[in-house]
Amino acid sequence: MPHQPHLIPELRDLPPEDGWPRAEATGRACTICQCGLNTGFVDSSEAIQSFNAHGAEVTAGHAQA
Ligand SMILES: [Zn+2]
Repeated sequence: MPHQPHLIPELRDLPPEDGWPRAEATGRACTICQCGLNTGFVDSSEAIQSFNAHGAEVTAGHAQA
């Protein structure tokens, strides 16, 4: 099972400025991986923790799909 974790910041749309779309970070993020890991949108620090811990979890055998 290949692992390729991604950290995805949650964004929300802001009103366009001079016709240009704008967005801002909500402070939440989601960690996903090809193995099926999906934290859903949680606090950014929590998502980053999951992202960083994923390799160790896989190595330890706790996150095998
Ligand atoms: Zn994985």
